[in-house]
Amino acid sequence: VTDGRIAGISAAIRVIPDFPKPGILFQDITTLLLDPKAFKDTIDLFVERYKDKDISVVAGIEARGFIFGPPIALAIGAKFVPIRKPNKLPGEVISEEYSLEYGTDKMEMHVGAVQAGERALVIDDLIATGGTLCAAISLLERVGVQVVECACVIELADLKGRDRLGDRPLFVLVSSI
Ligand code: AMP
Repeated sequence: VTDGRIAGISAAIRVIPDFPKPGILFQDITTLLLDPKAFKDTIDLFVERYKDKDISVVAGIEARGFIFGPPIALAIGAKFVPIRKPNKLPGEVISEEYSLEYGTDKMEMHVGAVQAGERALVIDDLIATGGTLCAAISLLERVGVQVVECACVIELADLKGRDRLGDRPLFVLVSSI
């Protein structure tokens, strides 16, 4: 994206080496949240892109998709659907397992939160390998929802997570290595 606001957003993201373990460069968006201008610019850029796309569902991925998703959903007149880690949602759920570096993890969504034929935006703070976004996409597509696009604040481009999304478009504000 070329927009004057991107530099301020990028500068507001703090990078912490070796968290949560050695070798990981953690992209910390809590410092973006401390900067009202950069936080608002982030939300505005997504809203400008999605407001006229006939999206009825914003699906946010736990936990940081819960920060960016709701203000976008409210601004574009869509509902917000949380996609959560296992055993957090109290109602009936469908779940999707996905692989991590070591072992597997799972994502869950409430049955009945979305209907077949709806158009969804999937949002998270960051795409690394793309495994998390893929699991969220599967949950939505399994119940007949069309994933119009995935959106993240940050992409770790070297990890090529984008390639795992197949033909679902990915929109990011900041691309990093
Ligand atoms: P992945 O499934 O590999 O695309 O990982 C994406 C998920 O892990 C997102 O929910 C991110 O919040 C988190 N994540 C992975 N790598 C990082 C990183 N370097 N900095 C911050 N969050 C990360």
